[in-house]
Amino acid sequence: MQILDGKLASAAILESLKNAILSSSTPNGRTPHLCAIIAGNNPASESYLNSKIKGCAATGITSSIIRLDADISENEFIQQIEKVNNDQSIDGLLIQFPLPAHFNESKIINAIDPSKDVDGLHPVNAGKLALGLPTFVPATPLGIMLLLEYFKIETTGKHAVVIGRSNVIGRPISILLSRNEPFGNATVTVCHSRTSNIKDLCLSADLVVAALGKPGFLTADMIKEGSVIIDVGINSVPDSSKKSGFAIKGDVDFESVAPKCKSISPVPGGVGLMTIAAILQNTLLAYQNKFKFKS
Ligand code: NAP
Repeated sequence: MQILDGKLASAAILESLKNAILSSSTPNGRTPHLCAIIAGNNPASESYLNSKIKGCAATGITSSIIRLDADISENEFIQQIEKVNNDQSIDGLLIQFPLPAHFNESKIINAIDPSKDVDGLHPVNAGKLALGLPTFVPATPLGIMLLLEYFKIETTGKHAVVIGRSNVIGRPISILLSRNEPFGNATVTVCHSRTSNIKDLCLSADLVVAALGKPGFLTADMIKEGSVIIDVGINSVPDSSKKSGFAIKGDVDFESVAPKCKSISPVPGGVGLMTIAAILQNTLLAYQNKFKFKS
């Protein structure tokens, strides 16, 4: 059984991004700049944001954070987005989720300039992805594709089952896996909470992407011997043995599934790290696009 080690794969991507940034010459000599906006002080959001900022530092990307109160109005938040949209020194804009409960998520996403949308959430970018046009691919699905590419996981002609149909993970990864592209060309089945025969579908899958947000959902009896398992879940579960009182668990029951499958991405240390690498890669893309447009 092979561990699809996100530490290894993301380190390689960060190294190549660092080299690309070092060797990129821009008209004004500045490096790519990623700006994050966060409202409130949710500890998990802070920790995710920290990892992204660390990744920026490691690759030579300039980073900045706009910190706002959790009770900020939606309009004030959008004004901050517009400020970043209009700031020519910023290439990528990242909104740290979850948003305050009183926000309308799609209103916020719609306010992002699609050319700075390094999380690939804006409808313009989602539409381009669906049409197979060049765009910002949402960070977690892009991270999964980079992981498959790094470990040379063959997907052509395979049956891939994606559990989850969210706009940020399930839907885009199902599009990517079915594209006529390297590490695509799979036959994809998308499952959701109303799919009646998930176990049968998973048992016929060569590749399962578990992205439903239910700790330990995918168990050994649900998978085919020798299949590839990508665990996207990040679930906080109570664990008295930890100082924090909780542990991070994936959507896959790693202990039972690992011995039966061919390859598996662990949680933590798998897709989460690839998501950060993907955001940095998208930031470099935003920067390259900007200077290409201007030349
Ligand atoms: P989400 O928006 O809540 O979507 C969950 C999807 O799973 C929905 O489509 C839902 O179906 C489906 N689902 C829920 N229960 C199910 C069940 N029992 N059987 C089959 N399908 C079921 O979640 P998300 O944002 O996509 O995130 C999914 C997981 O990935 C979460 O654990 C999240 O924390 C994690 N995540 C990881 C990363 C990373 O970097 N690794 C990044 C973001 C999120 P319906 O559509 O029918 O409701």
